[in-house]
Amino acid sequence: ETIINQIAAGEVIERPASVVKELVENSIDAGATRIEVVTAGGGKNLIRITDNGSGIRSDELALAVARHCTSKLTNDVHDIRALGFRGEALPSIGSVSRLSLKSRTSDADSGFEISTHGGRQDGPRPTPMNGGTIAEVRDLFFATPARLKFMKTDRAEASAISDVVKRIAIAFPHIRFSLAGSDRTPIELAATGAGSSGMLERISQVLGKEFPENAIAIDAERDGVRLTGFAGIPAFNRGNSLHQFAYVNGRPVRDKQIWGAIRGAYADVIARDRHPVVVLFLNLDPALVDVNVHPAKADVRFRDPGLVRGLIVGAIREALGQSGI
Ligand code: ADP
Ligand code: MG
Repeated sequence: ETIINQIAAGEVIERPASVVKELVENSIDAGATRIEVVTAGGGKNLIRITDNGSGIRSDELALAVARHCTSKLTNDVHDIRALGFRGEALPSIGSVSRLSLKSRTSDADSGFEISTHGGRQDGPRPTPMNGGTIAEVRDLFFATPARLKFMKTDRAEASAISDVVKRIAIAFPHIRFSLAGSDRTPIELAATGAGSSGMLERISQVLGKEFPENAIAIDAERDGVRLTGFAGIPAFNRGNSLHQFAYVNGRPVRDKQIWGAIRGAYADVIARDRHPVVVLFLNLDPALVDVNVHPAKADVRFRDPGLVRGLIVGAIREALGQSGI
């Protein structure tokens, strides 16, 4: 069982940022409106995610860290509203770290804590806390030294963690995110209002207000695929592609086809070694896209990749063209 979990962990948990992604997604699935991320040692020493979500009942805590136990399965694989559904993340994380899960539901008169260490479970036992969940991961990969060797510097791992949180945060502007710990100067993203003004405010919080000021709004549709967002003007370019954000049906994705389309759209107006800043939201019938190709890598498979590419390239070029660029 521990071995199986460690193999699964090899798939799901590549680096500290993958742990942060899984835990933050769990908090979002639990309906949290406040999510706090604290890390130390690039997340290798400590990752602590605190949320004010629904919590986990004491009798379900042991199940939550067991393999393939998910409370989120629906019958239709295309209709996955929850971010998680495999029930793999917590047991995988638990098999390669010291994991402690504390949780309190609104109807409980205390919180409960369960911890796992090298496949051994301890608890659940009562612990004082507010409503919600605190997931604490220490000594990530201590049991898999081979994996530990592949980690980058603390600084690089910490910045990958910030990147993951920012990517998720843009998709959920109504959630307050904070990012703290010895890895960085603290970042606070206040909850915004609803609608497109809230979305714009969150984008400014993450990318700075210079971005919307130097970007053109995109709103295009082709054969039922809608593309909205902002395309930075060519002069507002960057030395790396960390400033390209893409979402498919509200989920952050990193997809080669989308990056390729963005590159194509700007090919004539930006030098090859520079990268435009863009935030793009693709919305389409969930039956026409598979966002679950790989448990951790956020690439997607479109039923009609040519349509999506054409839409992105066309919409960005048109927007730039209308602004005389
Ligand atoms: P999945 O997200 O795929 O269901 P996980 O291993 O990530 O699997 O989590 C297992 C289960 O633990 C979830 O289905 C959920 O019921 C519970 N859980 C995990 N994290 C939280 C949280 N922050 N708040 C409430 N419930 C949680
Ligand atoms: Mg999950």
